[in-house]
Amino acid sequence: MSKVLVIGAGGVGSVAVHKMAMAPEVFSHITLASRRRSSCDAVAASVKGRTGVTIDTAQIDADDIAATTTLIAAVKPRLVVNLALPYQDLAIMEACLAAGVNYLDTANYEPRDEARFSYGWQWAYQDRFAEAGLMALLGCGFDPGVTSVFTGHVRKHLLDRIDTLDILDCNGGDNGLPFATNFNPEINIREVTAPSRHWEAGAWVEGPALARRQRFDFEAVGPRDMYLMYHEELESLARFYPEIKRIRFWMTFGESYLRHLEVLGNVGLTRIDPVMFEGREIVPLQFLKALLPDPSTLGAATRGKTNIGVIATGEKDGRGRTVYVLNICDHEAAYAETGSQAVSYTTGVPAMIGAALMLTGQWTGAGVFNIEQLDPDPFMAMLNRHGLPWQARELAAPLAF
Ligand code: NDP
Repeated sequence: MSKVLVIGAGGVGSVAVHKMAMAPEVFSHITLASRRRSSCDAVAASVKGRTGVTIDTAQIDADDIAATTTLIAAVKPRLVVNLALPYQDLAIMEACLAAGVNYLDTANYEPRDEARFSYGWQWAYQDRFAEAGLMALLGCGFDPGVTSVFTGHVRKHLLDRIDTLDILDCNGGDNGLPFATNFNPEINIREVTAPSRHWEAGAWVEGPALARRQRFDFEAVGPRDMYLMYHEELESLARFYPEIKRIRFWMTFGESYLRHLEVLGNVGLTRIDPVMFEGREIVPLQFLKALLPDPSTLGAATRGKTNIGVIATGEKDGRGRTVYVLNICDHEAAYAETGSQAVSYTTGVPAMIGAALMLTGQWTGAGVFNIEQLDPDPFMAMLNRHGLPWQARELAAPLAF
């Protein structure tokens, strides 16, 4: 019996649970818990309607370690899949240790009062998970997640040595709204307004946020402007692939999105420090989140595709080579299958796959692992079978920028 407890019933949690319900041979019993029970019940009704599978639901404040430990002890899962917010990572890891259960997430820990996400806090749990004989798998979404597995696939099958790696994330979707983020607005805006950072010659190179732009022609989307950014997987890829001399992450943004973001920043609405308003403290970015559309409601209106992949240069059999591994995902197809758009889909499916590989014993270990430390082959095979087919091809030349 492979019981799983999923925490977080947002867009990503909903997709993961739908996809788990479609694989009953692995996930024999699913419980979905979130801050609001109503979020879980809505997902449960959709899962029942689409797959016929009944899942259990529960209310939990995952910031509360004792309550989460009690919930885990009551559900008795073999794995806790954390699809709440990055703020909850450490509390849920603590609860997993207390209850003696394996752990998986898709986003690294970030303190609420500082926009500084890093694996450092979670890597510090290495000895405690190892001593308990438990496995914690970090960053099992798309990016981080699939992009790291693509890199592992490149290193295992396509290149003997990787010299440079560029991760290209394009959301070519259009939801018809002037400004909306496609995942949690607070997390999204904290990420894109942070200074850019990339890895080069053994050191981090920092620059202002969204200052370096490059045009790239994305298959199935078309030419788009993409911007150099810091992103979570850069930290773990630089650590686990010390041979790579330069690692960069690029993400596309439309003009309207950037114009809105600039104005919101200029008027102070993206600030994450509390300000006094009518006698009480509010955090402007949290207030802004309350005004913006809930990403989970955008699915029905979103058209177009995402195209996310990695371009690596290096050497194969003594010869210089550039390869591109990518996935294209269609917003409408994702919505038709799970009721969520492609950004949630491309994160929820990998979370389900990572969970399946842990539960079936294909990925095992004691300690804290990033996804690129594990064998990419079974994961790559499952991507093709579960809705995120990938392609790999050789490019005639390295990127010219
Ligand atoms: P949402 O905001 O849509 O959903 C978050 C969910 O977590 C909500 O259901 C919310 O509760 C629940 N939650 C928040 N706080 C708590 C708490 N204290 N206790 C219990 N539940 C809580 O976010 P997404 O679904 O878009 O994203 C989920 C995660 O996936 C985030 O960590 C995000 O950073 C990550 N992500 C990773 C990506 C990747 O490629 N690696 C890409 C996109 C997202 P409630 O039930 O009240 O609504």
